Amino acid sequence: MRLENKVAVVTGGASGIGQATCVLLAEEGASVCFGDINEEGGEETLSQIQESGGNAHFIGADVSQESECQRLVDEAVNVFGGVNILVNNAARFIFRGLDATPDEWDEIMRTNVFGYAYLMRFAAEEMRKSGGGSVVNLGSISSVIAQSKFVTYNAAKGAVAQLTRCSAMDLAPDNIRVNAVCPGLVWTGEVQKMAAEEGLSHKDAVAKWGPHQFLQRPADPREIACAILFLASDESSFVTGSLLFADGGYTAQ
Ligand code: NAD
Repeated sequence: MRLENKVAVVTGGASGIGQATCVLLAEEGASVCFGDINEEGGEETLSQIQESGGNAHFIGADVSQESECQRLVDEAVNVFGGVNILVNNAARFIFRGLDATPDEWDEIMRTNVFGYAYLMRFAAEEMRKSGGGSVVNLGSISSVIAQSKFVTYNAAKGAVAQLTRCSAMDLAPDNIRVNAVCPGLVWTGEVQKMAAEEGLSHKDAVAKWGPHQFLQRPADPREIACAILFLASDESSFVTGSLLFADGGYTAQ
């Protein structure tokens, strides 16, 4: 097991990539403290982990609020004794162009950017106490490419790339590595909703969107969790400040 005796804090663990990550990190021996605003989904993830003998703790937490980010880290310390790994995964999907309202900007930046920064600050305070740690932020292909009418989402994901690089520089003296996994299309609830809105079945969606990837298909959330595991574990001990594209080749073309 690659994460024995490690404590991981994960955000957005109630569904999709966050859920797959909580499950995989627990399988690898980590004690996983995760937060989400979706309490029902959070309880489902928790049961899944506990039924397979893993160690996890869930709290309802809204990472757009600084005090909630502090509470999530405090909870990990109180329940599991510290923090070694942070996975900043929670996100709002607000796809708007320059017509976005101030409320929409506020909402996406608070959750997808400010929350990541607050959590890195609070988690780093705990990681220093045990001699270091690893942060994995969820970027996206949208961190580096243009997509029509995606100004809000892509500005936030672009910010995640720079949060990652700059924090990697600042936290390196504390032996805290900071990296980002940047997925392409992943078959999670949000993408399923986009497919349903276009009247596409899974097969139709793969046929329509597959060719954007060398691998001709969307990813399964577990495949992204595997990339997160690599960056969270000591196997990536000399990797920091990097963006790992788990995108089936999307950005290579
Ligand atoms: P998802 O909607 O399945 O999961 C996101 C989770 O975040 C949800 O459980 C949601 O309740 C939670 N969340 C939202 N706002 C929150 C808040 N303020 N506080 C706490 N929890 C909150 O989405 P997903 O597809 O699994 O996405 C996970 C990450 O991967 C996101 O950062 C997303 O931007 C990124 N990503 C996804 C894709 C994709 O194709 N699905 C592609 C690239 C990047």
